[in-house]
Amino acid sequence: MKNVYDLTITDFEEFLINNNEKKYRASQIMDWLYVKEVKKFSLMTNLSKDLIKLLEDNFIFPDMKIIKEEKDLDVSKFLIKLFDGNYIEAVLMHHDYGESICISSQVGCNMSCAFCESGRLKKVRNLTSGEMVYQIMLINNVLDKKITHVVVMGIGEPFDNFENLIKFIDIINYNKGINIGSRHITVSTCGVVPRIYDFMKIGKEVNLAISLHAPTDEIRNKIMPINKIYNIEKLMKAVKDYLKMTNRRVTFEYIMLKGINDSKEDAVVLAKLLRGINCYVNLIPYNETENIGFKRSDMKTILDFYDILKKEKITVTIRREFGTKVSAACGQLRAKEVK
Ligand code: SAH
Repeated sequence: MKNVYDLTITDFEEFLINNNEKKYRASQIMDWLYVKEVKKFSLMTNLSKDLIKLLEDNFIFPDMKIIKEEKDLDVSKFLIKLFDGNYIEAVLMHHDYGESICISSQVGCNMSCAFCESGRLKKVRNLTSGEMVYQIMLINNVLDKKITHVVVMGIGEPFDNFENLIKFIDIINYNKGINIGSRHITVSTCGVVPRIYDFMKIGKEVNLAISLHAPTDEIRNKIMPINKIYNIEKLMKAVKDYLKMTNRRVTFEYIMLKGINDSKEDAVVLAKLLRGINCYVNLIPYNETENIGFKRSDMKTILDFYDILKKEKITVTIRREFGTKVSAACGQLRAKEVK
Protein backbone atom coordinates (compact mmCIF):
# COMPACT_ATOMS: atom_id res chain seq x y z
CA MET A 1 0.00 0.00 0.00
CA LYS A 2 1.00 3.55 -0.63
CA ASN A 3 2.53 5.73 2.05
CA VAL A 4 -0.03 8.46 2.81
CA TYR A 5 2.73 11.11 2.70
CA ASP A 6 3.43 10.22 -0.94
CA LEU A 7 0.37 12.14 -2.09
CA THR A 8 0.24 15.73 -3.28
CA ILE A 9 -2.96 17.73 -2.84
CA THR A 10 -3.79 16.96 -6.48
CA ASP A 11 -3.22 13.23 -5.92
CA PHE A 12 -5.65 13.31 -3.00
CA GLU A 13 -8.22 15.22 -5.04
CA GLU A 14 -8.01 12.70 -7.85
CA PHE A 15 -8.27 9.81 -5.45
CA LEU A 16 -11.34 11.31 -3.79
CA ILE A 17 -13.09 12.09 -7.06
CA ASN A 18 -12.41 8.57 -8.34
CA ASN A 19 -13.99 7.22 -5.19
CA ASN A 20 -17.09 9.42 -5.26
CA GLU A 21 -15.96 11.59 -2.41
CA LYS A 22 -15.85 15.37 -2.33
CA LYS A 23 -12.72 17.01 -3.70
CA TYR A 24 -12.50 19.56 -0.87
CA ARG A 25 -11.84 16.76 1.61
CA ALA A 26 -8.30 16.70 0.22
CA SER A 27 -7.32 19.89 2.01
CA GLN A 28 -8.88 18.58 5.23
CA ILE A 29 -6.77 15.45 4.98
CA MET A 30 -3.66 17.54 4.33
CA ASP A 31 -4.53 19.61 7.40
CA TRP A 32 -4.75 16.51 9.60
CA LEU A 33 -1.50 15.13 8.24
CA TYR A 34 0.64 18.23 8.20
CA VAL A 35 -0.86 20.81 10.54
CA LYS A 36 -2.47 18.70 13.24
CA GLU A 37 0.07 15.96 12.59
CA VAL A 38 -2.13 13.01 13.53
CA LYS A 39 -0.77 9.56 12.78
CA LYS A 40 -4.04 7.66 12.45
CA PHE A 41 -6.95 8.06 10.05
CA SER A 42 -9.44 7.38 12.84
CA LEU A 43 -8.39 10.65 14.49
CA MET A 44 -9.51 12.70 11.46
CA THR A 45 -12.81 13.50 13.11
CA ASN A 46 -14.33 15.79 10.49
CA LEU A 47 -14.27 12.98 7.89
CA SER A 48 -17.08 10.46 7.51
CA LYS A 49 -16.65 6.89 8.76
CA ASP A 50 -16.78 5.69 5.17
CA LEU A 51 -14.03 8.02 4.07
CA ILE A 52 -11.84 7.02 7.01
CA LYS A 53 -12.36 3.39 6.05
CA LEU A 54 -11.52 4.19 2.42
CA LEU A 55 -8.28 5.85 3.49
CA GLU A 56 -7.39 2.98 5.81
CA ASP A 57 -7.96 0.51 2.99
CA ASN A 58 -5.69 2.40 0.59
CA PHE A 59 -2.90 4.08 2.52
CA ILE A 60 -0.53 3.41 5.36
CA PHE A 61 1.46 5.56 7.72
CA PRO A 62 5.14 4.86 7.11
CA ASP A 63 7.21 2.69 9.37
CA MET A 64 10.19 5.04 9.83
CA LYS A 65 11.95 5.70 13.11
CA ILE A 66 14.71 7.87 14.43
CA ILE A 67 17.09 5.37 15.98
CA LYS A 68 19.99 7.61 16.87
CA GLU A 69 20.63 11.29 17.42
CA GLU A 70 24.02 13.00 17.66
CA LYS A 71 23.96 16.54 18.96
CA ASP A 72 26.37 19.43 18.79
CA LEU A 73 25.76 23.10 19.52
CA ASP A 74 23.65 24.14 16.57
CA VAL A 75 23.26 20.88 14.77
CA SER A 76 21.62 17.53 15.36
CA LYS A 77 22.08 14.56 13.15
CA PHE A 78 19.48 11.82 12.96
CA LEU A 79 19.89 8.27 11.82
CA ILE A 80 16.57 7.01 10.49
CA LYS A 81 15.58 3.40 9.90
CA LEU A 82 13.23 2.71 7.00
CA PHE A 83 10.53 0.01 6.90
CA ASP A 84 12.82 -2.35 4.96
CA GLY A 85 15.76 -2.04 7.35
CA ASN A 86 17.71 0.48 5.29
CA TYR A 87 19.19 3.56 6.95
CA ILE A 88 19.21 7.19 5.91
CA GLU A 89 20.22 10.43 7.61
CA ALA A 90 18.72 13.83 8.19
CA VAL A 91 20.42 16.83 9.75
CA LEU A 92 18.84 19.73 11.58
CA MET A 93 20.73 23.01 11.63
CA HIS A 94 19.93 26.06 13.66
CA HIS A 95 20.62 29.37 11.88
CA ASP A 96 19.79 32.95 12.87
CA TYR A 97 17.25 32.94 10.04
CA GLY A 98 15.51 29.75 11.13
CA GLU A 99 15.64 25.99 11.44
CA SER A 100 16.91 24.20 8.40
CA ILE A 101 16.72 20.50 7.73
CA CYS A 102 18.89 18.56 5.31
CA ILE A 103 17.18 15.44 4.00
CA SER A 104 18.25 12.33 2.09
CA SER A 105 16.81 11.45 -1.31
CA GLN A 106 18.11 7.90 -1.86
CA VAL A 107 19.46 4.91 0.05
CA GLY A 108 23.08 5.08 -1.07
CA CYS A 109 24.20 6.96 -4.18
CA ASN A 110 25.51 6.01 -7.60
CA MET A 111 27.50 9.16 -8.29
CA SER A 112 30.70 7.82 -6.70
CA CYS A 113 32.32 11.14 -5.86
CA ALA A 114 35.75 10.16 -4.55
CA PHE A 115 35.60 12.23 -1.37
CA CYS A 116 32.06 11.33 -0.33
CA GLU A 117 31.04 8.74 2.22
CA SER A 118 27.54 8.26 0.79
CA GLY A 119 28.84 7.01 -2.50
CA ARG A 120 30.78 4.17 -0.93
CA LEU A 121 27.49 2.32 -0.74
CA LYS A 122 25.92 2.06 -4.18
CA LYS A 123 22.33 3.09 -4.54
CA VAL A 124 20.02 0.49 -3.02
CA ARG A 125 16.86 2.31 -4.00
CA ASN A 126 15.19 5.67 -4.40
CA LEU A 127 13.24 7.14 -1.53
CA THR A 128 9.59 7.77 -2.28
CA SER A 129 8.39 11.34 -1.97
CA GLY A 130 6.62 10.32 1.25
CA GLU A 131 9.85 9.00 2.73
CA MET A 132 11.44 12.35 2.01
CA VAL A 133 8.49 14.22 3.49
CA TYR A 134 8.39 12.02 6.57
CA GLN A 135 11.98 12.89 7.51
CA ILE A 136 10.66 16.40 8.11
CA MET A 137 7.65 15.12 10.07
CA LEU A 138 9.83 12.95 12.32
CA ILE A 139 12.09 15.84 13.19
CA ASN A 140 9.18 18.23 13.58
CA ASN A 141 7.99 15.89 16.32
CA VAL A 142 11.15 16.19 18.39
CA LEU A 143 11.53 19.93 17.80
CA ASP A 144 9.67 22.71 19.55
CA LYS A 145 10.24 25.18 16.70
CA LYS A 146 8.94 25.13 13.18
CA ILE A 147 11.22 23.98 10.39
CA THR A 148 11.55 26.90 7.99
CA HIS A 149 14.11 25.75 5.42
CA VAL A 150 14.72 22.48 3.61
CA VAL A 151 17.84 21.46 1.71
CA VAL A 152 18.09 18.25 -0.30
CA MET A 153 21.77 17.62 0.42
CA GLY A 154 21.74 14.41 2.42
CA ILE A 155 22.46 10.94 1.11
CA GLY A 156 21.71 10.49 -2.58
CA GLU A 157 21.60 12.42 -5.82
CA PRO A 158 18.19 14.12 -5.98
CA PHE A 159 18.36 14.48 -9.76
CA ASP A 160 18.69 10.70 -9.99
CA ASN A 161 15.25 10.50 -8.32
CA PHE A 162 13.62 13.36 -10.15
CA GLU A 163 9.94 12.50 -10.19
CA ASN A 164 9.79 11.79 -6.47
CA LEU A 165 11.83 14.91 -5.78
CA ILE A 166 9.33 17.11 -7.62
CA LYS A 167 6.39 15.53 -5.78
CA PHE A 168 8.23 16.01 -2.52
CA ILE A 169 8.67 19.71 -3.28
CA ASP A 170 5.01 20.00 -4.21
CA ILE A 171 3.92 18.39 -0.93
CA ILE A 172 6.09 20.42 1.44
CA ASN A 173 5.35 23.60 -0.47
CA TYR A 174 1.54 23.24 -0.21
CA ASN A 175 0.41 26.33 1.67
CA LYS A 176 -2.14 24.63 3.88
CA GLY A 177 0.25 21.81 4.76
CA ILE A 178 3.89 21.96 5.91
CA ASN A 179 4.06 25.19 3.96
CA ILE A 180 7.76 25.60 3.29
CA GLY A 181 8.10 28.49 0.83
CA SER A 182 9.77 27.59 -2.48
CA ARG A 183 12.48 30.12 -1.86
CA HIS A 184 13.29 28.27 1.34
CA ILE A 185 13.89 24.99 -0.49
CA THR A 186 17.29 24.16 -2.02
CA VAL A 187 18.18 21.19 -4.17
CA SER A 188 21.83 20.25 -4.59
CA THR A 189 23.12 18.26 -7.54
CA CYS A 190 26.50 16.98 -8.65
CA GLY A 191 25.54 18.13 -12.16
CA VAL A 192 23.10 15.82 -13.93
CA VAL A 193 22.68 18.22 -16.83
CA PRO A 194 19.43 16.98 -18.46
CA ARG A 195 17.68 17.21 -15.09
CA ILE A 196 18.88 20.81 -14.65
CA TYR A 197 16.87 21.56 -17.80
CA ASP A 198 13.85 19.70 -16.40
CA PHE A 199 14.24 21.50 -13.10
CA MET A 200 14.14 24.97 -14.67
CA LYS A 201 10.74 24.13 -16.11
CA ILE A 202 8.91 23.15 -12.91
CA GLY A 203 7.76 26.71 -12.43
CA LYS A 204 8.66 27.06 -8.78
CA GLU A 205 11.16 29.43 -7.23
CA VAL A 206 13.22 26.65 -5.66
CA ASN A 207 16.95 27.23 -5.24
CA LEU A 208 19.54 25.26 -7.15
CA ALA A 209 22.98 24.41 -5.77
CA ILE A 210 25.68 22.80 -7.86
CA SER A 211 28.45 20.71 -6.34
CA LEU A 212 31.22 22.04 -8.53
CA HIS A 213 34.30 21.28 -6.40
CA ALA A 214 36.81 21.90 -9.21
CA PRO A 215 37.52 24.63 -11.77
CA THR A 216 38.82 22.36 -14.57
CA ASP A 217 37.81 19.07 -16.16
CA GLU A 218 41.24 17.70 -15.33
CA ILE A 219 40.64 18.02 -11.60
CA ARG A 220 36.92 17.37 -11.67
CA ASN A 221 37.31 14.14 -13.63
CA LYS A 222 39.54 12.82 -10.86
CA ILE A 223 37.06 13.39 -8.04
CA MET A 224 33.61 13.36 -9.69
CA PRO A 225 32.87 10.66 -12.28
CA ILE A 226 29.73 12.54 -13.40
CA ASN A 227 32.09 15.03 -15.05
CA LYS A 228 33.07 12.41 -17.62
CA ILE A 229 29.48 12.42 -18.84
CA TYR A 230 28.63 16.10 -18.34
CA ASN A 231 31.82 18.13 -18.30
CA ILE A 232 32.23 21.64 -16.97
CA GLU A 233 31.40 23.23 -20.30
CA LYS A 234 28.07 21.39 -20.53
CA LEU A 235 27.36 22.07 -16.88
CA MET A 236 28.04 25.79 -17.17
CA LYS A 237 25.93 26.02 -20.31
CA ALA A 238 23.03 24.44 -18.39
CA VAL A 239 23.55 26.84 -15.48
CA LYS A 240 23.53 29.83 -17.83
CA ASP A 241 20.33 28.57 -19.47
CA TYR A 242 18.85 28.03 -16.02
CA LEU A 243 19.69 31.63 -15.09
CA LYS A 244 18.17 32.98 -18.28
CA MET A 245 14.96 31.11 -17.66
CA THR A 246 14.53 31.52 -13.89
CA ASN A 247 16.60 34.55 -13.01
CA ARG A 248 17.40 32.83 -9.72
CA ARG A 249 20.91 33.02 -8.35
CA VAL A 250 22.73 29.71 -8.33
CA THR A 251 24.95 28.45 -5.52
CA PHE A 252 28.20 26.67 -6.29
CA GLU A 253 29.47 24.41 -3.57
CA TYR A 254 33.23 23.97 -3.47
CA ILE A 255 34.77 21.54 -1.00
CA MET A 256 38.32 22.51 -0.08
CA LEU A 257 40.47 19.39 -0.50
CA LYS A 258 44.09 19.68 0.50
CA GLY A 259 46.43 19.61 -2.50
CA ILE A 260 43.64 18.67 -4.90
CA ASN A 261 41.62 21.77 -5.77
CA ASP A 262 42.79 24.45 -3.35
CA SER A 263 45.73 26.25 -4.99
CA LYS A 264 45.78 29.97 -5.74
CA GLU A 265 45.85 29.12 -9.40
CA ASP A 266 42.68 27.06 -8.97
CA ALA A 267 41.02 30.09 -7.40
CA VAL A 268 42.00 32.27 -10.36
CA VAL A 269 40.67 29.74 -12.87
CA LEU A 270 37.46 29.36 -10.85
CA ALA A 271 36.93 33.12 -10.79
CA LYS A 272 37.36 33.23 -14.55
CA LEU A 273 34.88 30.39 -15.01
CA LEU A 274 32.23 32.13 -12.91
CA ARG A 275 32.76 35.69 -14.06
CA GLY A 276 29.51 37.41 -15.01
CA ILE A 277 27.36 34.57 -13.71
CA ASN A 278 24.70 35.40 -11.13
CA CYS A 279 25.96 33.04 -8.47
CA TYR A 280 27.57 32.67 -5.16
CA VAL A 281 30.28 30.30 -4.07
CA ASN A 282 30.16 28.41 -0.83
CA LEU A 283 33.60 27.20 0.20
CA ILE A 284 33.23 24.11 2.36
CA PRO A 285 36.03 22.95 4.62
CA TYR A 286 36.17 19.22 3.87
CA ASN A 287 34.84 17.02 6.62
CA GLU A 288 37.44 14.29 6.92
CA THR A 289 36.21 10.75 7.24
CA GLU A 290 38.19 7.73 8.38
CA ASN A 291 37.34 5.60 5.34
CA ILE A 292 38.61 8.05 2.72
CA GLY A 293 42.10 9.52 2.31
CA PHE A 294 41.33 13.14 1.42
CA LYS A 295 42.40 15.88 3.81
CA ARG A 296 40.88 19.23 4.56
CA SER A 297 42.74 22.30 3.28
CA ASP A 298 44.45 24.41 5.94
CA MET A 299 42.52 27.45 7.11
CA LYS A 300 45.18 29.75 5.64
CA THR A 301 44.78 28.10 2.22
CA ILE A 302 41.00 28.47 2.43
CA LEU A 303 41.32 32.14 3.36
CA ASP A 304 43.75 32.81 0.49
CA PHE A 305 41.36 31.10 -1.91
CA TYR A 306 38.52 33.18 -0.53
CA ASP A 307 40.50 36.41 -0.92
CA ILE A 308 41.27 35.73 -4.56
CA LEU A 309 37.61 35.10 -5.38
CA LYS A 310 36.63 38.24 -3.47
CA LYS A 311 39.17 40.30 -5.33
CA GLU A 312 37.80 38.96 -8.59
CA LYS A 313 34.34 40.15 -7.49
CA ILE A 314 32.87 36.71 -7.00
CA THR A 315 30.38 36.54 -4.13
CA VAL A 316 31.80 33.97 -1.77
CA THR A 317 31.31 32.65 1.74
CA ILE A 318 33.12 30.07 3.80
CA ARG A 319 30.64 27.60 5.22
CA ARG A 320 30.34 27.84 8.93
CA GLU A 321 31.58 24.64 10.49
CA PHE A 322 28.57 22.54 11.20
CA GLY A 323 28.76 19.22 12.83
CA THR A 324 32.36 18.15 12.48
CA LYS A 325 31.81 16.46 15.83
CA VAL A 326 28.58 14.82 14.84
CA SER A 327 29.78 13.27 11.58
CA ALA A 328 27.42 15.56 9.76
CA ALA A 329 28.95 15.24 6.33
CA CYS A 330 26.88 13.33 3.91
CA GLY A 331 26.66 9.64 4.80
CA GLN A 332 29.02 9.59 7.76
CA LEU A 333 26.60 8.61 10.49
CA ARG A 334 25.18 5.77 8.47
CA ALA A 335 28.67 4.61 7.55
CA LYS A 336 29.40 4.17 11.24
CA GLU A 337 26.22 2.17 11.76
CA VAL A 338 26.53 -0.01 8.67
CA LYS A 339 30.16 -1.08 8.79
N1 SAH B 1 24.29 14.49 -4.61
C1 SAH B 1 24.03 15.87 -4.31
C2 SAH B 1 23.55 16.14 -2.91
C3 SAH B 1 24.16 15.36 -1.76
S1 SAH B 1 25.82 15.72 -1.30
C4 SAH B 1 25.26 16.69 -4.63
O1 SAH B 1 26.26 16.14 -5.04
O2 SAH B 1 25.19 17.90 -4.54
C5 SAH B 1 25.74 17.28 -0.52
C6 SAH B 1 27.04 18.05 -0.55
O3 SAH B 1 27.97 17.54 0.44
C7 SAH B 1 27.74 17.97 -1.87
O4 SAH B 1 28.23 19.23 -2.25
C8 SAH B 1 28.87 17.01 -1.56
O5 SAH B 1 29.89 17.13 -2.50
C9 SAH B 1 29.24 17.42 -0.16
N2 SAH B 1 30.06 16.48 0.61
C10 SAH B 1 30.13 15.14 0.50
N3 SAH B 1 31.01 14.63 1.36
C11 SAH B 1 31.52 15.68 2.06
C12 SAH B 1 32.50 15.80 3.10
N4 SAH B 1 33.09 14.74 3.64
N5 SAH B 1 32.76 17.03 3.58
C13 SAH B 1 32.12 18.12 3.09
N6 SAH B 1 31.20 18.06 2.12
C14 SAH B 1 30.92 16.86 1.60
